[in-house]
Amino acid sequence: MQNVTVVGGGTMGNGIAHVFAMGGFSVQLVDIKQEYIDRAIATVTKNLDRQVKKEIITEEQKNEILGRISTGTDLEAALGNADLVVEAASENEDIKKDLFRTFDAKTKADCILATNTSSISITKIGAVTSRPDKVIGMHFFNPVPVMKLVEIIRGHETSAEVYKTIHELAEKLGKVPVEVQDYPGFVSNRVLMPMINEAIYALMEGVATVESIDTMMKLGMAHPMGPLTLADFIGLDVCLDIMNVLHEGLGDPKYRPCPLLKKMVAAGHLGRKSGRGFYDYSQS
Ligand code: NAD
Repeated sequence: MQNVTVVGGGTMGNGIAHVFAMGGFSVQLVDIKQEYIDRAIATVTKNLDRQVKKEIITEEQKNEILGRISTGTDLEAALGNADLVVEAASENEDIKKDLFRTFDAKTKADCILATNTSSISITKIGAVTSRPDKVIGMHFFNPVPVMKLVEIIRGHETSAEVYKTIHELAEKLGKVPVEVQDYPGFVSNRVLMPMINEAIYALMEGVATVESIDTMMKLGMAHPMGPLTLADFIGLDVCLDIMNVLHEGLGDPKYRPCPLLKKMVAAGHLGRKSGRGFYDYSQS
């Protein structure tokens, strides 16, 4: 495996391109607009500069890594040569299904098709292709160059051989792969999101303040970040979407999204990205 096409150059896609290029792969990074590509490359460059400063890589290695990333907005042109496609486009089932139909039509028959989805069923995505045995979840964590974990999700039809290839590949990238089956929220979000949702219930019911809830989990449970700070970081709209996936997919009322979470999303208070969530970021 040598040629990796990364589709989507946002928060996750630029980090995924970064780690594959650092691992010695030739990377093609595709997004829908040149300005998104420019922003992605600027972010990769900034993060590589940070690694040079920390003496993780040399200036020369930085230039080699950047030299292994080519970019474009023409998706089909970026697929013909790929041994692996990693999709990191927006978290929308229709967008992903459309993309996977195109990947299926335009890549070599043995190309593996991976998605970085946080919550959409790998089995459903695989089912729109003629090769569901080669469709797999490769779920990186933000920020990708720093976080060690890759949650590898086996769809209903994913073959053992493809799983093994992706598991070994994650190790080659210096990551720690963890195998999970394809159920709503996989493991990471199935455990994390209900905790965040419960913290929001505690706030809504007046059990404690935002600061008290976060302090409790930081100092009492040794979490590096309180759940409400983390929710602001992830984005409250993303948290709500994932709670809805858990609620619908598992059908258990214990996953119902907290009404305060719904209200904050309706008000446009989405966390850091909108300048306000459980905390105020308007000055930062
Ligand atoms: P983002 O919005 O920052 O980036 C998505 C990018 O995909 C955008 O640049 C957008 O222009 C591009 N895109 C949309 N449609 C496209 C298409 N048809 N072709 C090519 N590019 C297209 O989103 P993100 O946070 O990077 O999330 C990407 C994926 O990773 C999602 O599936 C998300 O659930 C998952 N994920 C996100 C995080 C996180 O912390 N942000 C963590 C793990 C997984």
